[in-house]
Amino acid sequence: MENTMISYDPSNGERLGQVRATAIEQIPEAVKKAKKAAETWKILGLDERLKIIQQAYAQAEPRINELAELLSREMGKDIKRSSGEVNGTVFGGPYIAKEAREAFQPKQAGNGTIIEYRPLGVAAVISPWNYPLAMANNLIVPALVAGNTVVFKPSEETPLVADAFVKILNQKLPEGVLQIIYGDGDQGKALVESQVNLIAFTGSQAVGKDIMARAAGGLKRLVMELGGNDPMIVLEDADISAAARFAVASSFENAGQMCTSTERIYVDKKIADTFEKLVVEVASRYKTGPWNMPGVNIGPIINPDQHAMIIDHIRDAESKGARILLGGSQQPERYIKPTVIADLTPEMIMEQEETFGPVVAMSRYTNLEEAVQRANNSVYGLGAVVFGQRHAQSVADQLEAGMVGINQGVGGGNAPWVGAKQSGFGFHGSPDGHRQFAQVRVMSS
Ligand code: NAD
Repeated sequence: MENTMISYDPSNGERLGQVRATAIEQIPEAVKKAKKAAETWKILGLDERLKIIQQAYAQAEPRINELAELLSREMGKDIKRSSGEVNGTVFGGPYIAKEAREAFQPKQAGNGTIIEYRPLGVAAVISPWNYPLAMANNLIVPALVAGNTVVFKPSEETPLVADAFVKILNQKLPEGVLQIIYGDGDQGKALVESQVNLIAFTGSQAVGKDIMARAAGGLKRLVMELGGNDPMIVLEDADISAAARFAVASSFENAGQMCTSTERIYVDKKIADTFEKLVVEVASRYKTGPWNMPGVNIGPIINPDQHAMIIDHIRDAESKGARILLGGSQQPERYIKPTVIADLTPEMIMEQEETFGPVVAMSRYTNLEEAVQRANNSVYGLGAVVFGQRHAQSVADQLEAGMVGINQGVGGGNAPWVGAKQSGFGFHGSPDGHRQFAQVRVMSS
């Protein structure tokens, strides 16, 4: 049965538009159409596919401002951040072409044997709302480049911007190569259980586990980019002012709704008073408001449930003895004002789970073993950051994370975006990332 999905402006709850949710019984049909399209898409070869993909992305260039405004309205982030996201999405193509050529070049393995990288077939791409174009694009492009066709389900929170983007690309992509379906977890489950060959997913750990269980029957290939609970360790000899600025910027980025935002900070007790004071000073300068208000750098929280969850985490920390240095659990509707918490303990929800809100949460340590132990005491392992000098490298080496930053944030260049532990497996970015979307075939003659 078809029904309507309404998209709301998170800054005021007003209705922005709607799409028709894809009927569950239509999903196998879409996958069948994608399988048919895959037959011709794969035999085009890498160069021809790259050419068509680049032509498709060129269609989006004159539409960047329009897409950025829609992204801001639907997701809430300020226009500068949306423009950055849309520009990165539209102009990422040349890097991808270079990496893909390197990734898929057949390799001589000796004795007349060649290693080839072949398309898998149909890829399901399922994406979250926090970077609604970038996250989808990071999975769609490598899937297409590798010679797969894609059935894409964007988040139910941000269907309009995804719909606009796919319509632009489809002006140039051949029929059936990239299809979009609309819906929530029900449509997501139906897509996972359909005849797709690969599921490329970015989203929460809980949904990642559900997808893995549903995909087990068909032993489907999985690329899983899941949640994080990223720690930051501040060493005694750190540049305290740089560390404090980073701590706030990383905790508040995208209103804290970022998979690698700093969620918990362990600071050497010898410098903790100064660090806490600086953090409060920096955090007080941040301003909440809607996407088009000048000077805003913290937008609204995506929906009331997420807003309530952040407040629950803050209230839990308050009830267990945390010191609230700024903000706290009394918050306006739709927004979380900059919040700074000290004396975080392992018993607090905030230390164990992803809060996904603009909260700086700090704790003091007395020795490095304790700092490393607490940083690693998590099921997650996406990113981790160390600020300091003398022991920074040795501390960084001990951190259980897919990406580690020393005196800076994680990731960079054309490196893969990769999680460890329960933050996922399979990844995108870099030639190795491209190969996650392909089947290795060994040809001997
Ligand atoms: P979510 O897991 O709730 O939803 C993600 C997508 O999965 C949505 O499209 C949703 O409709 C769909 N879905 C829900 N249930 C499903 C099911 N059972 N089967 C198939 N699909 C289903 O995540 P969210 O709230 O949209 O996004 C926030 C989460 O994403 C956070 O945990 C964040 O850390 C994570 N994230 C990770 C990365 C990364 O690169 N590792 C990047 C961005 C976001």
